[in-house]
Amino acid sequence: MIELKDVSKVYPNGVKGLEDINLTINEGEFVAIVGLSGAGKSTLLRSINRLVDISSGDIKINNQSITSASGKSLRLMRRDIGMIFQSFNLVKRSSVLRNVLSGRVAYNNTFRTIFNLFPQKDVNLALKALERVNILEKAYTRSSELSGGQQQRVSIARTLAQEAKVILADEPTASLDPVTTKQVMDDLKKINKEDNVTVVINLHFVDLAKEYSTRIIGLRAGKVVFDGPAKDATDEV
Ligand code: ADP
Ligand code: ADP
Repeated sequence: MIELKDVSKVYPNGVKGLEDINLTINEGEFVAIVGLSGAGKSTLLRSINRLVDISSGDIKINNQSITSASGKSLRLMRRDIGMIFQSFNLVKRSSVLRNVLSGRVAYNNTFRTIFNLFPQKDVNLALKALERVNILEKAYTRSSELSGGQQQRVSIARTLAQEAKVILADEPTASLDPVTTKQVMDDLKKINKEDNVTVVINLHFVDLAKEYSTRIIGLRAGKVVFDGPAKDATDEV
């Protein structure tokens, strides 16, 4: 479902973010990308939905090149990809429900968002998403009033409302405590299992990757140094 062929990224300052990456990620996989700070994890993840433009190679999603997509076709491809960030990226002044509804990409940039005119069907979908990550009671709370873990669960609910087929999560637990980390990882695992959503997650720690993922990709200085079953990964990856 996600295919990277000879992918390299050189930043304008000459730093090689990625070098000759070849990977295939299948539908329904739960893949962890592990590596030290600066290894290229963020660059890899952001290349997949083209938040980062690669320098050479090609990235395909469901056999369609996102590298050469533009305009409407790029927007359509991104509709299937949910993104979760370390820093949550919610609109803090807005309610939780409003943030989850923003996952319904179709309503971005229309008058509906200004007047909060959302069809009942979408509101129901958003409420259901909040229920699945156990945070329904916060639907009408301002996002800024939530803890970090709660905010991250809201951003997971946003990908559910989006009906994303792939979730790209960039160190989603890096700023969370161990208990909250577990809740967030459990939610991602549940969505992966129950909805067959493909999850690609950047993690700093191998032990967390081994606990949750089935496959680990180890990156070092922009290159793949390990790719295999999570149980075979050592602390070195
Ligand atoms: P990780 O997510 O594993 O910490 P990154 O993908 O953020 O790694 O970074 C990989 C390398 O690319 C690092 O050397 C980093 O400094 C560099 N890099 C990342 N983003 C930029 C950028 N916008 N401009 C220049 N260099 C960058
Ligand atoms: P994180 O640890 O969350 O990956 P970083 O500190 O690596 O955050 O990067 C934060 C932002 O700065 C990113 O947008 C990244 O692309 C950019 N960045 C990272 N390294 C560099 C660099 N050497 N030069 C310019 N921009 C960079």
